[in-house]
Amino acid sequence: MPLPVQHPPPQTDDRPRRAVIHAPAFKAVELAQRGRMILDVAEADLAASESFLGPFHDTSWFFRRALADARNSWDRLRARYGLAVLEAALDEPPATVLTLGRSSTPDAVLVVIAGKTYALHRQPPSVDAPRIWQLTRIPLSDDGPFHACRLSDGSTQCDCAHWIYEIADRSDTFCKHLAALDALGWL
Ligand SMILES: [Zn+2]
Repeated sequence: MPLPVQHPPPQTDDRPRRAVIHAPAFKAVELAQRGRMILDVAEADLAASESFLGPFHDTSWFFRRALADARNSWDRLRARYGLAVLEAALDEPPATVLTLGRSSTPDAVLVVIAGKTYALHRQPPSVDAPRIWQLTRIPLSDDGPFHACRLSDGSTQCDCAHWIYEIADRSDTFCKHLAALDALGWL
């Protein structure tokens, strides 16, 4: 599907065109994050299919084409916005989410956190932690999964190294996982 193209309005006077410059940058955040997630999911799908079914199975070919499409879309985004804009966009708080599975009961919600795709699963609440999320990297990585939660006393906690070693004593600060959940209003 072709990407939407933003056409600047015809220049009829000498007014600065600041608004025209900002609009694509804002849109770039959403497009970059969506493109990153689609690319990462396609890589994970192909790796899983090759692992379970073999590289020459029809399903593996299907996912290989999907990955090629995702890479082409990413290359078009890079040509349109430039790599620096895309990398900055990936560092922004989550601007868009993708759901896997049925939308009524999604298996997971995907978001981009600090340039990486994560699958978010809401965990059963406990008395001490009414809101708990498991965050798993896509494709799967040795980095995680992490568990970020809001405790019953209102404080927040994560089991990532950054939180444990640098934030634990300053509970008013978020690690990137807590910051993303907070930005989404899910914490
Ligand atoms: Zn964390």
